[in-house]
Amino acid sequence: MWIDESDTTQLSQRLRVGPRELLESIGGPWQVSERIAEREMERSGTLFVGRAGPSVAILVSDDPDPDVRIGVAVGQWQGVWPLLWSLTDETALLRTPERDAPSAEVDSFLADLQQAVDAAAARKAPALVVCRYCSALVAPEHAVGEELCQACGTNVFGIVY
Ligand SMILES: [Zn+2]
Repeated sequence: MWIDESDTTQLSQRLRVGPRELLESIGGPWQVSERIAEREMERSGTLFVGRAGPSVAILVSDDPDPDVRIGVAVGQWQGVWPLLWSLTDETALLRTPERDAPSAEVDSFLADLQQAVDAAAARKAPALVVCRYCSALVAPEHAVGEELCQACGTNVFGIVY
Protein backbone atom coordinates (compact mmCIF):
# COMPACT_ATOMS: atom_id res chain seq x y z
CA MET A 1 0.00 0.00 0.00
CA TRP A 2 1.30 3.43 -0.93
CA ILE A 3 0.42 6.39 1.24
CA ASP A 4 1.26 9.82 -0.07
CA GLU A 5 2.53 11.71 2.94
CA SER A 6 3.20 14.86 1.00
CA ASP A 7 0.81 17.77 0.70
CA THR A 8 0.83 17.80 -3.10
CA THR A 9 -2.90 17.06 -3.25
CA GLN A 10 -3.63 19.94 -0.89
CA LEU A 11 -1.53 22.26 -3.06
CA SER A 12 -3.44 21.24 -6.18
CA GLN A 13 -6.74 21.90 -4.41
CA ARG A 14 -5.61 25.31 -3.20
CA LEU A 15 -4.45 26.22 -6.71
CA ARG A 16 -7.64 24.78 -8.29
CA VAL A 17 -5.76 22.60 -10.72
CA GLY A 18 -5.80 18.82 -11.10
CA PRO A 19 -3.12 16.92 -9.13
CA ARG A 20 -1.87 15.24 -12.30
CA GLU A 21 -1.65 18.53 -14.17
CA LEU A 22 0.17 20.06 -11.20
CA LEU A 23 2.75 17.27 -11.10
CA GLU A 24 3.27 17.45 -14.85
CA SER A 25 3.97 21.16 -14.73
CA ILE A 26 5.99 21.60 -11.52
CA GLY A 27 6.88 18.14 -10.18
CA GLY A 28 6.85 17.38 -6.48
CA PRO A 29 6.47 16.42 -3.75
CA TRP A 30 5.31 19.52 -1.89
CA GLN A 31 5.05 19.86 1.88
CA VAL A 32 3.23 22.41 4.00
CA SER A 33 5.91 24.06 6.12
CA GLU A 34 6.08 26.14 9.23
CA ARG A 35 7.02 29.69 8.44
CA ILE A 36 9.51 32.04 10.00
CA ALA A 37 7.47 34.24 12.35
CA GLU A 38 8.29 37.66 10.96
CA ARG A 39 7.27 36.51 7.49
CA GLU A 40 4.00 35.24 8.87
CA MET A 41 3.20 38.75 10.11
CA GLU A 42 3.67 40.18 6.62
CA ARG A 43 1.40 37.91 4.64
CA SER A 44 -1.05 35.28 5.75
CA GLY A 45 -1.22 32.08 3.82
CA THR A 46 0.07 28.55 3.50
CA LEU A 47 3.68 27.97 2.56
CA PHE A 48 4.49 24.87 0.52
CA VAL A 49 8.10 23.87 -0.10
CA GLY A 50 9.19 21.30 -2.65
CA ARG A 51 11.29 20.17 -5.58
CA ALA A 52 14.84 18.99 -5.00
CA GLY A 53 16.19 19.83 -1.60
CA PRO A 54 13.57 21.39 -1.13
CA SER A 55 14.47 24.39 -3.22
CA VAL A 56 11.21 26.13 -4.13
CA ALA A 57 8.60 27.89 -1.97
CA ILE A 58 4.99 28.55 -3.00
CA LEU A 59 2.92 30.82 -0.74
CA VAL A 60 -0.84 30.57 -1.28
CA SER A 61 -2.75 33.40 0.41
CA ASP A 62 -5.93 32.85 2.43
CA ASP A 63 -8.05 35.09 0.18
CA PRO A 64 -11.14 33.71 -1.60
CA ASP A 65 -9.23 34.13 -4.87
CA PRO A 66 -5.75 33.39 -3.58
CA ASP A 67 -2.55 35.09 -4.64
CA VAL A 68 0.25 32.69 -5.37
CA ARG A 69 3.82 33.80 -4.75
CA ILE A 70 6.69 31.67 -5.99
CA GLY A 71 10.29 31.99 -4.88
CA VAL A 72 13.36 30.32 -3.47
CA ALA A 73 12.84 28.31 -0.28
CA VAL A 74 15.22 29.25 2.52
CA GLY A 75 15.17 27.37 5.81
CA GLN A 76 16.23 28.51 9.23
CA TRP A 77 16.72 26.30 12.27
CA GLN A 78 15.32 27.85 15.42
CA GLY A 79 16.60 25.63 18.17
CA VAL A 80 16.59 21.97 17.16
CA TRP A 81 13.12 21.64 15.68
CA PRO A 82 11.32 22.45 13.52
CA LEU A 83 13.08 23.84 10.50
CA LEU A 84 11.19 27.01 9.55
CA TRP A 85 10.97 28.18 5.97
CA SER A 86 10.53 31.43 4.15
CA LEU A 87 10.10 32.53 0.57
CA THR A 88 12.87 34.72 -0.85
CA ASP A 89 13.85 35.97 -4.32
CA GLU A 90 10.26 36.00 -5.54
CA THR A 91 10.06 34.87 -9.17
CA ALA A 92 6.35 35.48 -9.77
CA LEU A 93 3.09 36.67 -8.25
CA LEU A 94 0.14 34.89 -9.83
CA ARG A 95 -3.58 34.62 -9.19
CA THR A 96 -5.24 31.21 -9.01
CA PRO A 97 -7.73 30.47 -11.78
CA GLU A 98 -11.33 31.19 -10.83
CA ARG A 99 -13.58 28.25 -10.02
CA ASP A 100 -14.72 26.50 -13.21
CA ALA A 101 -12.34 28.62 -15.26
CA PRO A 102 -12.02 27.65 -18.94
CA SER A 103 -9.24 25.14 -19.48
CA ALA A 104 -7.21 27.64 -21.51
CA GLU A 105 -7.04 29.87 -18.44
CA VAL A 106 -5.94 26.97 -16.24
CA ASP A 107 -3.30 25.96 -18.81
CA SER A 108 -1.99 29.50 -18.94
CA PHE A 109 -1.77 29.61 -15.13
CA LEU A 110 0.10 26.30 -15.09
CA ALA A 111 2.55 27.52 -17.73
CA ASP A 112 3.30 30.67 -15.69
CA LEU A 113 3.60 28.58 -12.54
CA GLN A 114 6.02 26.18 -14.21
CA GLN A 115 8.22 29.01 -15.43
CA ALA A 116 8.36 30.62 -11.98
CA VAL A 117 9.03 27.31 -10.18
CA ASP A 118 11.78 26.38 -12.65
CA ALA A 119 13.39 29.80 -12.20
CA ALA A 120 13.35 29.47 -8.40
CA ALA A 121 14.73 25.91 -8.57
CA ALA A 122 17.54 27.08 -10.85
CA ARG A 123 18.52 29.79 -8.36
CA LYS A 124 18.81 27.33 -5.49
CA ALA A 125 20.39 24.49 -7.51
CA PRO A 126 24.05 25.59 -7.05
CA ALA A 127 23.60 25.45 -3.26
CA LEU A 128 22.24 21.89 -3.16
CA VAL A 129 24.45 19.23 -1.61
CA VAL A 130 24.96 15.72 -3.00
CA CYS A 131 25.50 13.35 -0.07
CA ARG A 132 28.59 11.23 -0.68
CA TYR A 133 27.12 8.29 1.26
CA CYS A 134 23.58 7.97 -0.08
CA SER A 135 23.79 10.30 -3.10
CA ALA A 136 20.70 12.17 -1.94
CA LEU A 137 20.33 15.69 -3.28
CA VAL A 138 19.49 17.88 -0.30
CA ALA A 139 19.22 21.56 0.48
CA PRO A 140 22.07 22.95 2.59
CA GLU A 141 19.48 23.30 5.38
CA HIS A 142 19.34 19.47 5.47
CA ALA A 143 23.08 18.92 5.06
CA VAL A 144 26.10 18.75 7.33
CA GLY A 145 28.82 20.66 5.56
CA GLU A 146 29.18 20.24 1.83
CA GLU A 147 28.98 16.51 1.29
CA LEU A 148 26.78 14.85 3.90
CA CYS A 149 23.01 14.73 4.38
CA GLN A 150 21.64 14.92 7.93
CA ALA A 151 20.21 11.40 7.78
CA CYS A 152 23.66 9.95 7.02
CA GLY A 153 25.13 12.32 9.61
CA THR A 154 23.04 10.45 12.15
CA ASN A 155 23.23 6.94 10.68
CA VAL A 156 26.93 6.93 9.71
CA PHE A 157 28.50 9.29 12.22
CA GLY A 158 25.98 9.24 15.07
CA ILE A 159 25.53 12.99 14.98
CA VAL A 160 22.58 14.04 17.12
CA TYR A 161 20.88 17.24 16.02
ZN1 LIG B 1 23.09 10.74 2.87
